Amino acid sequence: MAKIIDGKAISAKIRQEIKIETEKLIREKRITPGLAVIIVGEDPASKVYVRNKRLACEGAGMYSVVHELPETTEEETLLRLIDKLNSDKKIHGILVQLPLPPHIDEGRVIESISPEKDVDAFHPVNVGKITLGSYDFLPCTPAGVMTLLEESGIEIGGRDCVVIGRSNIVGKPQALLLLEKNGTVTICHSKTKKLAEITRRADILVVAVGRPDFVNGEMVKEGAVVIDVGINRKADGKLTGDVDFASVEPKASYITPVPGGVGPMTITMLLKNTLTAATKYAEMTCR
Ligand code: NAD
Repeated sequence: MAKIIDGKAISAKIRQEIKIETEKLIREKRITPGLAVIIVGEDPASKVYVRNKRLACEGAGMYSVVHELPETTEEETLLRLIDKLNSDKKIHGILVQLPLPPHIDEGRVIESISPEKDVDAFHPVNVGKITLGSYDFLPCTPAGVMTLLEESGIEIGGRDCVVIGRSNIVGKPQALLLLEKNGTVTICHSKTKKLAEITRRADILVVAVGRPDFVNGEMVKEGAVVIDVGINRKADGKLTGDVDFASVEPKASYITPVPGGVGPMTITMLLKNTLTAATKYAEMTCR
């Protein structure tokens, strides 16, 4: 029987710490951390994410503003808004909800965000800093996974870590963060051969594929730590992960559920990054 890593409880504890730090920053420096979220279009899932981000900000005592732009918004209009937010003193973090409509160049938009306000840590400057191991922000989902491991007392150093998925948002940075903690890391992806042979070697297995029940008990070593990043919506509307919980849980030593595992941590790490950005701003301006 695996121990269930309770992402909701860990997230609630960290959000409380962030709230206390936020109150201190407001009290001592008169600076309220501010997050601007931009959403382009009507994607219902994105709208829910944006709403949750705004509510989480408010819950932590932060200032938040949401810019909802129509699907037909031109790239230049979006870039002008980001430019304005880059120089807005009340805003310390800017997040552009992805995906963007196909006529907008995602890379150009991300690069237009000031790296100091890039609380998603997707800007090439921040990606480079993470690669070098010296950074201000970490991308929210992989950072959330690292926090879950740390809070659960799971040792990473010297252990075999396998990440399935190589996206810029999850898989690649996840591998870098595990490497930074001295894990021996293997990255698997859609062209990987004999996947199960590799996953069965994992002491720590992080799955970020986007396919329900992709990893089953046969692919997991006895006693492995299994972190399920996947969020998939089933026909009945319920959420499910990338890991077949029923067959993997009896073999794993630790496992994250979906929902209630990695998901709640992502927004918590966004709050943490926004607080970090505001604290850095305070250090620069209050000297
Ligand atoms: P993505 O589609 O960008 O990447 C999926 C990855 O899976 C790719 O790198 C691909 O190579 C790999 N893959 C596909 N088929 C494979 C196969 N047969 N064998 C091995 N690898 C295979 O997705 P993403 O943005 O990285 O997200 C992955 C999942 O994580 C999705 O379900 C997404 O909804 C979820 N997600 C969750 C959070 C959260 O807050 N919990 C945040 C971001 C993404």
